[in-house]
Amino acid sequence: MIQQLYHNPDIYQIHVDLPDNPLKYLNSYVVKGPTRHLVIDTGFNRPECQAALCGGLRELDVDLSRTDLFLTHLHGDHSGLVGLFTAAGCPVYMNEIDYTYLCDEHAGQAWQFIEDTYMKEGMPPEDIKSQFTNQARRYSPRIDFPIHAVADGDVVRLADIDFHVIHTPGHTKGICCLYLPEQEIFFTSDHILFDITPNIQVWPNMSDSLDHYLESLEKVRSLPVKLALPGHRKGSTSIVGRIDEIKEHHRRRLNEVLSIAAAQPGSTAYDIAPHMTWSMRGKKWHEFPPTQKWFAMGETLAHIEYLLHHGQLRREEQGGLFRYYPV
Ligand SMILES: [Zn+2]
Repeated sequence: MIQQLYHNPDIYQIHVDLPDNPLKYLNSYVVKGPTRHLVIDTGFNRPECQAALCGGLRELDVDLSRTDLFLTHLHGDHSGLVGLFTAAGCPVYMNEIDYTYLCDEHAGQAWQFIEDTYMKEGMPPEDIKSQFTNQARRYSPRIDFPIHAVADGDVVRLADIDFHVIHTPGHTKGICCLYLPEQEIFFTSDHILFDITPNIQVWPNMSDSLDHYLESLEKVRSLPVKLALPGHRKGSTSIVGRIDEIKEHHRRRLNEVLSIAAAQPGSTAYDIAPHMTWSMRGKKWHEFPPTQKWFAMGETLAHIEYLLHHGQLRREEQGGLFRYYPV
């Protein structure tokens, strides 16, 4: 499914279905310029996504020999089909931090770190094992591509227009958004989503990801925006209201963790997670699919880490497990 979102520059959205995934679909954006084209993000490395993306590119008559690919961040639903583009010789633009992590993830080091962390945080081994079927793990790209590294403040000429790169660490450490100042168009990737809340996890390469994330929301809050184009679901004509809602969401979450730890001192993160509020259509914790438990655990830990860093929670290691106490 294709939709034209803007004329001059001509910006299109290809709706890439993500089967069996609560995100539902990825927005792959195509900007068609007079001499070159730009594709932003791809979908998972799986046949359903490939069919949707290739169908869209064909319908838009995108000539890959005159196309650049921009990957906003490392997640497989954004980067999975990079191989289609590198096989056609397209230059790939991406932040180096996420590229390096993707290489480590491919080698298994990043996954191993998270498995070890979750074990210490009380997650049972059977829940950890179930992650071998995680879509992010199964449908990641093959890592055999070079990149043109982009960093905060870079101005990159793509599709015959100057795009401004804004580094917004939090959702991942290297996530970068693109901005067109003249048109006030902001490609927000998974930094700002409008009808779901971006997932904030713990990372081996970034301490206190939630603190970074909240700072990155502030960083873009005053940006003039007429059209915000997110990585998933629907866009918006402004960002300020949504940023304030997301900040409030995390403030509530932090208070929730504090009150659970106060009510049950000595809880592990895995004890705390089921008592938090999750929007899983009325499902109880034990009914959560393993992938959702995994994300919920990461999200809980990101909030715990924030509270530890801000001196609002205390951690003790007991018998190989981390337990949390109010200060
Ligand atoms: Zn993401």
